[in-house]
Amino acid sequence: MASVFTKIINREIPGYIVAEDDSFIAFLDINPLAKGHTLIVSKKEIDYFFDLEEDVLAAMMVFSKRVALAIKKVTHCKRVGVAVIGFEVPHVHLHLVPMNSMTDINFANPKLKLSKEEFLEMTHHLQAAIK
Ligand code: AMP
Repeated sequence: MASVFTKIINREIPGYIVAEDDSFIAFLDINPLAKGHTLIVSKKEIDYFFDLEEDVLAAMMVFSKRVALAIKKVTHCKRVGVAVIGFEVPHVHLHLVPMNSMTDINFANPKLKLSKEEFLEMTHHLQAAIK
């Protein structure tokens, strides 16, 4: 069965999509650690990040950089942190998390509850900031 991320890629379910190319898509995490928490997802449905081919791994980081620069510009965070978790959705993705301190990327922290309007506003700001 297709993963929840493949369903977003195929527009079968909604997602707050901020960028995409032929190989990757970026959309907001629906349970964010911070405003602007974004997932970078491989369009090819593979479970484990380090099973990706080396050229795909490299391309994914280059795509992530474009999105991370936009997150930093929009959220004014000190740094954008990167995490690979994958216990919940077995479909390769990176978490890009705006951080002002080390604890901001602790996945045990409570997640933010944002309104649809807040998600949409962040989506539009990031879309506009991504080059
Ligand atoms: P993990 O697989 O542990 O890296 O966690 C998967 C992440 O995907 C979690 O942070 C979820 O909040 C997020 N997530 C799950 N379903 C959706 C969705 N439909 N749209 C956006 N993010 C999602």
